[in-house]
Amino acid sequence: MNVLKFGGTSVGNAANIRKVVEIISQSEEKKIIVLSAMSGVTNLLVNLHKASVDGNDAEISEALQAIKVKHFEAIDSLFTNSQSASEAMVQIDQYLADLRELALGDIRPSLYAEIVTYGETMLTYLFSKYLDQQQIENVLLDAKEFMYVGSVENPDVNAVGARLKPVLNRKPSTLYITQGFVCLDDKGNIETLKRGGSDFSATIIGAAVGAGEVQIWTDIDGLHNNDPRFVQETRPIEHLTYNEAAELAYFGAKILHPQTVAPVIDKDIPVWLKNTFEPQAAGTKISNEHHNRGLKAISAKDGITAIRIRSNRMLGAHGFLKTIFEVFDRYETSIDMITTSEVAISLTIDDNRNLKAIVTELSVIAEITVEQEHSIICIVGENLIEDHESYKAFSLLDKLPVRMISYGGSNNNISLLVPTKEKVKTLQYLNAQLFRLEGALV
Ligand code: ADP
Ligand code: ASP
Ligand code: MG
Repeated sequence: MNVLKFGGTSVGNAANIRKVVEIISQSEEKKIIVLSAMSGVTNLLVNLHKASVDGNDAEISEALQAIKVKHFEAIDSLFTNSQSASEAMVQIDQYLADLRELALGDIRPSLYAEIVTYGETMLTYLFSKYLDQQQIENVLLDAKEFMYVGSVENPDVNAVGARLKPVLNRKPSTLYITQGFVCLDDKGNIETLKRGGSDFSATIIGAAVGAGEVQIWTDIDGLHNNDPRFVQETRPIEHLTYNEAAELAYFGAKILHPQTVAPVIDKDIPVWLKNTFEPQAAGTKISNEHHNRGLKAISAKDGITAIRIRSNRMLGAHGFLKTIFEVFDRYETSIDMITTSEVAISLTIDDNRNLKAIVTELSVIAEITVEQEHSIICIVGENLIEDHESYKAFSLLDKLPVRMISYGGSNNNISLLVPTKEKVKTLQYLNAQLFRLEGALV
């Protein structure tokens, strides 16, 4: 059994949906297909939720209408049989009526997830119905029957497997279709796996069923050595280790949800990144195979806040770091980078929700400086630190506006903190300098 996930662009219109059907029809093995919403639909659903909270009826109608147009255009083009087309329209209208009722109903904590996960519900319905029309036998599964992950931070793949296996046995098929993004928490409330979470759905499901491989199909030919949105002349990487992919995803490589590889590492299930629009391209294989060590790729994560904590009391005093970490722990705020000197610590966080309270508490014991709008630039490669060439990266630092550096925390990365307004220039400069030679530091 393999798990194949297709992202928003891959299912963004009728022509692309046809391409996806061609790809999944190419092999006979058993498959679970995990689908995102049509591109743009989740954003519209986020608007719908906001309009609901604001009590703005005009914006509720506007969002629903835009969602309707996207799905009806796809129906028009996909369904040649007029009965199937009208059944599909009736069903999409029903989903839109459900959404209107939700949006006009009580505001409650789970409302966001209940609304924004509808995009996947609507698209998987259309997709499965289109397969029926093409006489491709398939079974549509409701992910809400089995995606009981407990905690979104640390999903329980065994619990998902225990619910999913009987569902699969009850409905034998070689082709299952289900929704990405949606899950249920430990109380059985609908939750999301966060934006971009369908990648994570695919690896959770892959681990839950012990899949042969997980394929993530998107709009680019694999993970590139730098962010193609900001840097020209990037190129796809053929092999990454789980650790390399995890670092790149966590530190901003948008092609992968930050938690994607975690569920499959222990089970050693390879993850392929493939291009729906260029299926013959090699793509990227993520596995525990070590092909070449040293520098592989650079990514950037925005929205970082640097906090400098300075205190003369720190001098020679033990227990100071513990006191500081306890403050962050109390506010459930995780720290990404950290550097220390004799009298000061600088650290970074990406979750600002409790920044004010944290600073107020820390100010009692130390002098605090806060700098917002920074980015972490992450230079990644297995054994980068042991690679004696890597010191050459430091010769570039005089040209870069670096505020903090982390080196040696793991063998696989060097992290630099720069102001976000300098991010693009930094990525471009590092790309030009570090990738001048094929895959090696220069
Ligand atoms: P999907 O909707 O299929 O999940 P995403 O938009 O989430 O697709 O991810 C694919 C996009 O990620 C690419 O189009 C590309 O712009 C962006 N991206 C950012 N960093 C990288 C990288 N290092 N390699 C490849 N793509 C990247
Ligand atoms: N549709 C969701 C989003 O846009 C999940 C996904 O595409 O992975 O975030
Ligand atoms: Mg994505």
